[in-house]
Amino acid sequence: MIEISSLSFDELSEKIAQMGLPKFRAKQIYEWLHKKNVDSFDKMTNLDKALRQKLNEEFFIAVPTISRKLVSKIDGTVKYLFEFSDGECVESVVMKYKYGNSICVSTQVGCAMGCTFCASTKAGRVRNLTAGEILGQVYRAQTDTGERISHIVLMGIGEPLDNFDNVMKFLDMVSNEQGLNIGQRNISLSTCGVVPKIYELAKRNLQITLSISIHSPTDELRTSMMPINKKYPISELIEACRSYVKTTGRRISFEYSLIKGVNDSPECAEKLCALLRGMLCHVNLIPVNTIEQSDYRKSDKEAIERFKNIIEKHKITATVRRKLGADINAACGQLRRESKQLDR
Ligand code: SAH
Repeated sequence: MIEISSLSFDELSEKIAQMGLPKFRAKQIYEWLHKKNVDSFDKMTNLDKALRQKLNEEFFIAVPTISRKLVSKIDGTVKYLFEFSDGECVESVVMKYKYGNSICVSTQVGCAMGCTFCASTKAGRVRNLTAGEILGQVYRAQTDTGERISHIVLMGIGEPLDNFDNVMKFLDMVSNEQGLNIGQRNISLSTCGVVPKIYELAKRNLQITLSISIHSPTDELRTSMMPINKKYPISELIEACRSYVKTTGRRISFEYSLIKGVNDSPECAEKLCALLRGMLCHVNLIPVNTIEQSDYRKSDKEAIERFKNIIEKHKITATVRRKLGADINAACGQLRRESKQLDR
């Protein structure tokens, strides 16, 4: 069976032609899948029964089912545990902002990167998600909430640049006018720093925002938190970032999770500014979310303010991420862990 929701319009058109069907059928089917976001061929009401039957025999649609759903009483943030047909689960979170609804999607089942502060990686990577499965998270969330999603962040479970081809296809299909047509400027991709893939991404010259999970300004500290730093140390990462800005003209956003007594000192802030000097960038400070599997604690309010002030003193813009969905543990990959009883 072929996963139809991962086929681009051209690929679908080819398949439809091979089946001896007229061209307009590809357009109809693509629209049902990517504009109307239906989850079954039987809902494609302008196709005759015989054709729906044929599609059912050859293809399947990768829109996930809702395994669990938590809604924050504080701010309406919705967290989903989505399940795919093979029983694997990922998490997605819908956040409501003044400018519109934003969804945080997963790109892999689990993650191979091993960051010490992150719940999603504790039991490793199971598999990549297909383009259709990443799209399916957006589609299911949008049909479930009944509200348009206007912004996407690839910051859920997984490392997007470790699933490069599928993520590129997703970006193309979701920002395409034949699909949801979400502007690339409303999409952010976050990476722990897979350097060669940053160069590859730059070549695509997309309008998306690249976020870099930097979290530490020195190799020793960063390597202790993020194993990827052994392979691609900070100097190489920053060089790739400068090159990315030069090629794309897009500002890079640096994510820095503040951990009490670990990376929140004024020295760390100064060193971070030295690294970023002269780069078109922004710093996003995130008070670390405590997870069961580590002893990290959030920095104090004063330490966060002090860190932010130092960055701003160097004329780099900085924001402290507002916590949404605090009552539903919206930020971590913990629902999947609970559901699978992954206890490592
Ligand atoms: N693999 C990608 C995207 C997924 S993680 C990446 O590393 O960027 C999305 C963001 O959440 C990253 O910046 C990540 O470092 C951060 N993060 C993960 N666990 C966290 C935690 N417990 N507290 C705060 N931020 C966390």
